[in-house]
Amino acid sequence: MMSALHKYHTFFSNHKTPFYFYDTDLLQRTLAEIKKTSSTYNYHVHYALKANTNDTLLKIIKEAGLGADCVSGNEVKKAIELGFGAANVVFAGVGKSDDEINYALQQNIFCFNCESIPEIEVINELAKQQNKTAQIALRINPNIDAQTHKYITTGLEENKFGINFHELTDVLAVLKNCSNLKLIGLHFHIGSQITDLNPFKNLCTRVNEIQQWFLQRGYQLPHLNVGGGLGINYNKPDEEALCDFNAFFSLFKKFLQVQPNQQIHFELGRAVVAQCGSLITKVLYIKKGTNTNFAILDAGMTELIRPALYQAYHKIENVSKGKGQNLKYDVVGPICESSDCFGKAVELPETLRGDIMAIRSAGAYGEVMSSQYNLRDKVKSYFSREIK
Ligand SMILES: *Cc1c(COP(=O)(O)O)cnc(C)c1O
Repeated sequence: MMSALHKYHTFFSNHKTPFYFYDTDLLQRTLAEIKKTSSTYNYHVHYALKANTNDTLLKIIKEAGLGADCVSGNEVKKAIELGFGAANVVFAGVGKSDDEINYALQQNIFCFNCESIPEIEVINELAKQQNKTAQIALRINPNIDAQTHKYITTGLEENKFGINFHELTDVLAVLKNCSNLKLIGLHFHIGSQITDLNPFKNLCTRVNEIQQWFLQRGYQLPHLNVGGGLGINYNKPDEEALCDFNAFFSLFKKFLQVQPNQQIHFELGRAVVAQCGSLITKVLYIKKGTNTNFAILDAGMTELIRPALYQAYHKIENVSKGKGQNLKYDVVGPICESSDCFGKAVELPETLRGDIMAIRSAGAYGEVMSSQYNLRDKVKSYFSREIK
């Protein structure tokens, strides 16, 4: 059986590798499914720009009507330049600089998700200087274990993210003195690549408790933002090209206690863009090792750092040969780092110099984390809709 990407083999062969290839039809189908399943419950979905800020993809995502979740001033700028609309932009992050805050204030973004008391005080001060009232939400650390890799777990008390529950009394006292801030909501985000929905159920329970705490103190907040983190199936990029968005949103419908007229926001990154992207690369050399064969590619950790950074698995296919499993290869890049390895003992059909390889499910945290280490060229991107 051939790879689903085989129909693009001629295009791939005629273009200088490595490059990212995005299936824009799949992205559109994904967005349509998100829209359909979220609108059933009147949920608002923001796209987490940090997963991929490729302009072509952002325009498609904006057209589908998603808002923008940003974690830097330049992401806020990008979202506004591409027309997401300041009223649909939220700005999160533990380390917002004064310049970034000032810029976002000038643009009148919808909401700052605040992660500490000092940050709250600075935003109030800068808003005062601009004669504005900034809308803020408190990012609260729900102390939920997302049960994923430790580098992508964010919702535990020991993580740097968010405000801990025991600090909330102090936060409310500080807010009483912040006349240029308006508290409009609560924000949570427990981690990334969460494929078992149970942590989200635990999150709902925790959000309900925290919301009660606020209600008891007279705060009925119009917005709840439950973050992102929905994972994808890296093993089955074709069979499970779309996440089960219906199960995801239904779970929140079932377990989250929503106040009258309260808006519920989600911030999905990976689940929107991961499956539509592949890193296309060519085999430079097959090298015999002592116990293994190395397939040395012209793409490396400079184009896709996830395997080197957090031992992430990506399915690797030989697009020239199909899906046979005859031999084992350690599939590596050309960079002078031992961690520059895409997979060990990967079963592939006999692979030769010049074969086109696809590293699948690379649309999220791929291109956007690429670097020019070793003075490599900036990685290019192509889109299925450009190919006749
Ligand atoms: C990274 C991030 C997201 C998106 O995470 P995914 O796992 O890509 O869905 C959402 N919200 C915040 C605050 C983030 O930092």
